[in-house]
Amino acid sequence: MRRDPDLPQLWFDPAEMLIGGRWRPASQTLPVEDPSTGFEIGRIARGRAGDIAEAVAAAEAARAGDWGRMTATERGRVLARIGRMVRERAEDLALIETTDVGKPLTQARADAQALARYMEFYAGAADKVMGETIPYLDGYTVYTLREPHGVTGHIVPWNYPMQIVGRSVGAALAMGNACILKPAEEASLTALAFARIACEAGLPAGALNVVTGLGEEAGAALSCHPGVQHLSFTGSVAVGRLIQAAAALNVVPVTLELGGKSPQLVFADADLDAALPFLVNAGIQNAGQTCSAGSRILVERPRYDEVVSRMAERYAKLRVGPARDDLDLGPLISARQREIVEGFLAMAPEGAVSAQGRIVAAAPAGGHYLAPTLLAGPGPDHPLAQDEIFGPVQIVIPFADEGEAVAIANGTGYGLVASIWTESGARQMRLAKRMRAGQVFLNNYGAGGGVELPFGGVGKSGHGREKGFEALYGFSVTKTVAARHG
Ligand code: NAD
Repeated sequence: MRRDPDLPQLWFDPAEMLIGGRWRPASQTLPVEDPSTGFEIGRIARGRAGDIAEAVAAAEAARAGDWGRMTATERGRVLARIGRMVRERAEDLALIETTDVGKPLTQARADAQALARYMEFYAGAADKVMGETIPYLDGYTVYTLREPHGVTGHIVPWNYPMQIVGRSVGAALAMGNACILKPAEEASLTALAFARIACEAGLPAGALNVVTGLGEEAGAALSCHPGVQHLSFTGSVAVGRLIQAAAALNVVPVTLELGGKSPQLVFADADLDAALPFLVNAGIQNAGQTCSAGSRILVERPRYDEVVSRMAERYAKLRVGPARDDLDLGPLISARQREIVEGFLAMAPEGAVSAQGRIVAAAPAGGHYLAPTLLAGPGPDHPLAQDEIFGPVQIVIPFADEGEAVAIANGTGYGLVASIWTESGARQMRLAKRMRAGQVFLNNYGAGGGVELPFGGVGKSGHGREKGFEALYGFSVTKTVAARHG
């Protein structure tokens, strides 16, 4: 790999990990690639099982020390300071993310704002999680306490590092857990930058530890460590299964945020002018590398041809190029990811490609660019309509009536989100209940990100909820106290 001449100035050494409040290198490092150019932009530490063991010990010490003694209000204040500092450094963070992940600058900027917002939300929520008093037998007083798990492990992917670190670590810290964060080897830089900011903001040593490295080394060690009392994993179904198996051996709870094949249902009465930008954007945002991508467009037959042709018009105008040029799409994260997506496209039957976007001439040859592709024709059971592609590919499928729409929408193993486009309020209410999904959007998609909105899946999309107030319950346990006083 060659070195990237345009690398943004980092104010920290990315080859250092945070363990127990100290920044330290590892004996080996891993290269970090800019997906827009293929150039090396730095190196991160290759943490291993020994580093994870030290991080667990540091987290336990933090729980027994300053961090564990902090009141909920004090924890909230620390998170508020982190949020303020993230907002002050948002442009730096966005530039780093753009280069590391290859996402257009506007999207990276939105992610940095979301990270700040997660800190603000959980700062405000920290001292508002309350127990209950429970009417019980005569002579008893019974109440519940909401307590942290203790040491929590957080394994995150490369597609939205800032957002996923924010939602997972933010909620866990608010409840008083001590966290060990394992970022994805493809994109660890903003997790490291966030941890630097958290230290500067006064987060006590050991409350947040960051161990970078490979999934099968640092990630596996974290998921198997008996000192970790809760695991939060966001990533693929294949690795999610391994995490759940590891959690089963240690008998600890796990939150799995996995993939999706989310449907967007367009009924004949839909306001198509309003829907179209959402229909397309939900599929191409972050070059389709989004767990909640709206990758299947299901259209009631009378408007099927119109939707295909109007989406095709939009696709023909989409431009793909270097992330810092801030076009519609940047590159995919890696050469491997592009190969995976190209493998799916090779399955498309003759004539199924309705439209494609364009890779701009200025796109460097070493970048992992792929033109977004709109497909029409393959039926709902085709692998292109069943499997998560995790690239800029959407498929349009017709349906005859509500019953068939629901059957197709719910007819994959996944269940992350769904959107319903119709002017009928009754149909909105009816179908929202029938969707097999963790979030349903009526006449919109994504609701602007929704830090406040509980998020998670059913089926192969995972279980447990992050984001919103509900995440605080996931990152804590109820203790019931029963006093007999006569
Ligand atoms: P991945 O599962 O390969 O990697 C995710 C994380 O797991 C990385 O940090 C990786 O290092 C780690 N990991 C890999 N092997 C491991 C192992 N054996 N033990 C422990 N940790 C290990 O996924 P990816 O390719 O980085 O991300 C893409 C997938 O993530 C897609 O399926 C996507 O849908 C999903 N995703 C889901 C959400 C959500 O909120 N539901 C959000 C983003 C991404």
